[in-house]
Amino acid sequence: MRLFITLFVFLLAITSYAQQAHKRTLKLMGSRFDITVVAEDSITAKDYIDSAIEEIDRIEKLISSWDENSQTSEINKFAGIKPVKVEAELFSLIERAIMISKLTDGAFDISYASMDKIWKFDGSMKKMPSEEDIRASVAKVGYTKILLDKDKLTVFLKIRGMKIGFGAIGKGYAADMAKQLLVAKGVSSGIINASGDMNSWGQQVDGSEWKVAITNPLNKNKVFALLPINNGAVVTSGDYEKYVDFNGKRYSHIIDPRTGYPSIGIISVTVFAPKAELADALATSVFVMGKEAGLDRINQLPNIECIIIDDKGNISKSNNIVIDKL
Ligand code: ADP
Ligand code: MG
Repeated sequence: MRLFITLFVFLLAITSYAQQAHKRTLKLMGSRFDITVVAEDSITAKDYIDSAIEEIDRIEKLISSWDENSQTSEINKFAGIKPVKVEAELFSLIERAIMISKLTDGAFDISYASMDKIWKFDGSMKKMPSEEDIRASVAKVGYTKILLDKDKLTVFLKIRGMKIGFGAIGKGYAADMAKQLLVAKGVSSGIINASGDMNSWGQQVDGSEWKVAITNPLNKNKVFALLPINNGAVVTSGDYEKYVDFNGKRYSHIIDPRTGYPSIGIISVTVFAPKAELADALATSVFVMGKEAGLDRINQLPNIECIIIDDKGNISKSNNIVIDKL
């Protein structure tokens, strides 16, 4: 009997300290975030999650172009007027964004942002913008007109009315930074999901890999693949929430910075990469590049894969993705 009680107390002790996944869902950077950490108890987990939230808030204050007090708004305000000194962190984010522009032949471009005066995807746009307006606006777009001074840490947008925005890379960056912070704090395993921008590390409590479900936006109830994330990032960029229809044509909220017109033809892109920042930016880029050029570029990059769904529901994938039929 005594042995039984000892054993019972022992088992109880193990289970109450057993690692468990703790998840919190909240709105950050204007989007839904789910933060999951594996921890021994809920108090420790709460501290971890609180610190991740603090980190994401900090990043939002730096990169938001809505927040008038952010350094990003400062850069935009002085476009065509003078260079603005920024923190090293923002400077390097802009540097990396420009590198991705070069990698994608300009399909990705943080200076797309001045186009948001022309294309609005909040339901307020009732007719197609005029060709003239689009031409005038797109003249203010172009990553080669973002001038960086590494010694002085200044950013200068060459033309008045030019504007940068991190809508296609910011959530990925925030997910990476939150993960980095939690790993440094000793959290053995977790997953940050920033509205479809996911970054994971470690394993689930049962020892299995974290997985991502891929759905076809044209048939939302049907998951067609469940793929392992493997200690890296997966980002899905979809237009099924933000798009407009004109004359039976569907225009996505992703703009081709070279023409000033929204991308058409693709409705969802999922990119797998070691980091969420790159995956986020590349998912947006593939939208603009289109199926062939997009897949071709992704196939040239090591450790990066993608799945594309077009507006007819066709699924295409890069060379190294194997989808088992569910
Ligand atoms: P979501 O955040 O909706 O999942 P994305 O990561 O693809 O989708 O980001 C889309 C956002 O990126 C747009 O809402 C806009 O703010 C911005 N954007 C649009 N076109 C481009 C572009 N060509 N390059 C960089 N950013 C873009
Ligand atoms: Mg993106």
